[in-house]
Amino acid sequence: GGGGGGVERDRQQRSSSIASNGSASALSGSGLLNSNSGNNNVNHGSNGNLTNIGVGHNNNNHNNSLDKLKMAENCMTHAMPNTLWCSVCNILLCRACAATEEHRTHVVKNKMEAKESLHADISKELLGMQKTLNDVQHLVLKQRDFLLKILESCTTLKTQIETELLNHMPTLEITEIRENLCKARLCLDILDKQTPAEAVKLYTTLHAEKQRLMTKYQEMFLQCKLDDMIRNCGYVFDFELIKQALVQMHNCVLNGGNLDNFGVGSVIGGLNGITAAGSHQNPILLLANYCISQLYSRQMLLLKQQQQQQQ
Ligand SMILES: [Zn+2]
Ligand SMILES: [Zn+2]
Repeated sequence: GGGGGGVERDRQQRSSSIASNGSASALSGSGLLNSNSGNNNVNHGSNGNLTNIGVGHNNNNHNNSLDKLKMAENCMTHAMPNTLWCSVCNILLCRACAATEEHRTHVVKNKMEAKESLHADISKELLGMQKTLNDVQHLVLKQRDFLLKILESCTTLKTQIETELLNHMPTLEITEIRENLCKARLCLDILDKQTPAEAVKLYTTLHAEKQRLMTKYQEMFLQCKLDDMIRNCGYVFDFELIKQALVQMHNCVLNGGNLDNFGVGSVIGGLNGITAAGSHQNPILLLANYCISQLYSRQMLLLKQQQQQQQ
C-alpha cells in the first residue's frame, strides 16, 4: 500500500510539473499574439487610413460609392454641379436631380457630409470587427490551451504505462516464484540425505509458495478478464458496469475453483451489449475504457485505505 502511494505521488508531481510547463508556454504564446493583435490596427483605422485598408477589399458597395463620389463634376442632364449624394441609390446628384420624383423621398446628403458619414460607418464597422476578432482570438487561444492540456495528459499516461511495463510487478513476482521452485527441486534431489524435519520444512515452504502462486493466478486471471472486457466492450464503461463484472468474475473464480474450466467470454457474454467487435477497432474507446477502469481501481484503493483508517 505505502509503496503504491509513493508511486502515485511521484506520478502526480510529474504530471503537475508537466502541466505547469505547458501552461507557461501557452501563456507566452498568448502574450506574443496579444502584442500583434487588435489595438494597433484599430488605431490605424481611426487615423484615417480607412480607405486604404478596408474599403477596397471588404465592401464593394462602399467602394463603388466612393468611386462615384469622385466621378462627374457636373450633372449631364441639368449641367449643374453634382454636390449631393443620394444614400438610397448611392449616386451623385445635382440639386435639380434631388428634386425629381425619383429621389424626392430618398435621403439626400451633401457630398462631403455623405463621405464623412460613410467614413464613420466603415470605421465603426472595422472597430466592431476588430473587437470580435480579439474575442475570437481569445477563444482560439483557450482552445489551443485545452489541446495542450490533453496532450500533457496523454504524455503522462504514456509515461505511466511505460513505467508500468518497465517495472512490471507480475513479471518480477513470477520470476521469483520460478526461482523458488528451482530451489525446491534442488532440495528435493538431496532430500534422501536430509532428516525428516528438513523434509517437513521444505514441504511447509513449498506450501506457502503454492498459496502465493494460486493468489497470483486468481489475481492475474481477474486482471486479464477485466482487460478482455476493456478490449472488447463496444461502448463506454461506467463504474457500475465494472463493479458488476468484477463481482461476476470473482464469483466464477470462487465457485468454480477450477480456473481452467472458466470459459473465455462467459462473463463478458453475460453482460449485455458487449460484443466481440469491441473497442480494438477504436483506439479512443479502448483508451477511454482503460482510463475509466484505472479511475475505478484508484477509487477502490482510496475506499479501502479509508476503511483501514477507520478500523
Ligand atoms: Zn441633375
Ligand atoms: Zn435616389
